[in-house]
Amino acid sequence: MNKLGLYIHIPFCNKICAYCDFPKRVSKNTIKEKYLKYLKKEINLYKDKSFDFRKITSIYIGGGTPTAFEIKLLDELFYELHQMVDFSKIEEFTIEVNPEDLSKELIDLFVSYNINRISIGIQTLDKKLLNKINRSFDYDRFLENYNYLKSRISNINFDVMYAIPGQTLEQLSDTLTSLIKLKPKHFSVYSLILEEKTIFYNEFIKGKLELVDEELELKMVEKIHELLDVDYPQYEVSNYSKDAQSYHNLLYWSNEQYLGIGLSAASYLDDKRYQNTKNLYNYFDDIDNGKFPIEYVEELSLDDTKKHHIIQGFRKVSGINLSVYFNRYQTNIFDDFPLLKEFILKGYFEVVDDNIKIKKEYFYVMDHFIEKLM
Ligand code: SF4
Repeated sequence: MNKLGLYIHIPFCNKICAYCDFPKRVSKNTIKEKYLKYLKKEINLYKDKSFDFRKITSIYIGGGTPTAFEIKLLDELFYELHQMVDFSKIEEFTIEVNPEDLSKELIDLFVSYNINRISIGIQTLDKKLLNKINRSFDYDRFLENYNYLKSRISNINFDVMYAIPGQTLEQLSDTLTSLIKLKPKHFSVYSLILEEKTIFYNEFIKGKLELVDEELELKMVEKIHELLDVDYPQYEVSNYSKDAQSYHNLLYWSNEQYLGIGLSAASYLDDKRYQNTKNLYNYFDDIDNGKFPIEYVEELSLDDTKKHHIIQGFRKVSGINLSVYFNRYQTNIFDDFPLLKEFILKGYFEVVDDNIKIKKEYFYVMDHFIEKLM
């Protein structure tokens, strides 16, 4: 069966994190209700163009903070999804959750709609750091709800952040050690990147924020591996799991197709990559005018598609499967990218079990190799 992902973007948050440059906003319930209505309208535009939602094999609801929708709205959204997709084909149905929003009622709702993977944005357990990045949650209350969640849905991911300004190696280590004890199935661990138009960026240009230096950041990466490698082997640049690698996210890294619905959502279908507008009012206007709210389209040539396959595929520790590549394009990857042979001869890449991959010790300079291949 071909894989086909569906991503739904909920662009609302209860608070704005100091480092965040995602399309998101703090809004009143009336705007959220309107947005849900327009999500459904956008879905209907695809139905009118005969897009077959019954071919979907995974769903990912992200944001923003999907749980910034009140339960009634989430219920309506899940109900809509159940009407249009064939759940016997759904391999993975993920929703992102803010730890503060977790409740028994919400968990029961997830279970009743067959949601089988929960991604929780923890970032850090250190109270001072949480305060610094403008996030907060009551750990004891979270723990109570987490234990209930774990008894109902076993596939749980924790998002953790490192290189937070002011963060020490010990704080990172304490957070990871405490979270490992909770036995989730998966970790996504990201470095804080200073992005323009964020609270942190404004503080930085005023000289009020000191970033983590390279030496400490490197030690943090080593610490992450030291703590996670045994029970959570790395399988992608930022992702770690032994037996619960994310089906939906692997679609992206394997250059498979997906449809994105909602503000700023990206899609990759029929050799086209496109992205919806990031402006909420343009989103509403386009849909009112019966138009797809798309602001950017890139038509991919065969060469472009192969390059995307390379860029995404080498993000995975297992690399790119040679037979899959050949069956898909009817060409050999070494003919399309002759430099790969040189990389193997020089000992940077290797072929293992029909997969070509970057050797572990060179994984951190992946961008350098990808750049050469392009
Ligand atoms: S990091 Fe997530 S929760 Fe924080 S503002 Fe950005 S989208 Fe919202």
